[in-house]
Amino acid sequence: KLSKRLEIVASYVKKGSVVADIGSDHAYLPIFLLQNNIAIKAVAGEVNKGPLLSAKAQVERCHLENEIKVKLGDGLDVLKDEVDVDTVTIAGMGGPLISQILENGKHMLQHVNRLILQPNIAADAIRKWFLIEGWCLLSETIIEEDGHIYEILVAEKGDAKTPYSDEIEKELWLGPYLLKENSTPFIQKWKKEYEQLEKIASQINESHSTSKALLEKKKSVGLKMNWLREVLQ
Ligand code: SAM
Repeated sequence: KLSKRLEIVASYVKKGSVVADIGSDHAYLPIFLLQNNIAIKAVAGEVNKGPLLSAKAQVERCHLENEIKVKLGDGLDVLKDEVDVDTVTIAGMGGPLISQILENGKHMLQHVNRLILQPNIAADAIRKWFLIEGWCLLSETIIEEDGHIYEILVAEKGDAKTPYSDEIEKELWLGPYLLKENSTPFIQKWKKEYEQLEKIASQINESHSTSKALLEKKKSVGLKMNWLREVLQ
């Protein structure tokens, strides 16, 4: 059975899609997409040999070798010669790594029109990349599973619709849709983050340094704490 986290990723894949799952590990997601007639074909990309072998073994066990191509490669490099891939999924990594993979391989995305990404931390790195590269953030989900909080972001090409207001900095950090929705896992996540920031703020206050970097840090921590007080009130 697929994790709740990957089930939500799968729920954003349109029926009939051709999907590339980058960092696929056991290829659970592409297997699920094929077995449930959501995707018609898939690529499972892996940069590491161990996970690559386990993806191959799973795909063979499910007799999906004709539908799922397991490829060794760094990030979006596996999209080479795969012109019919229209959807890319990247799950279970940090936001900075996911946005790095997108940035390094952005020339491979000409035929791709939907990105479904599940960062474990720092989703803001991905929202910023979408904004700079002209991808429109369509939807966001936040869930709690086994004591962890996960976010799932969906974007399509084009920046015609923007979910951002004049508080864009705050919305990039917290998520424009998640902020409006104000769900239980969202509150849970940011309450914890607020406690972390409180600790950092008190360390800064105890330090007697007046370095510019520290003053900058103090300012940014203060700003974030103000945003979170609005959210958590
Ligand atoms: N996507 C699966 C999931 O969400 O359950 C597996 C997540 S696992 C924590 C991350 C996987 O990404 C690892 O198997 C790792 O080898 C792979 N990976 C890391 N960097 C990568 C890159 N640049 N290109 C392709 N795969 C990568």
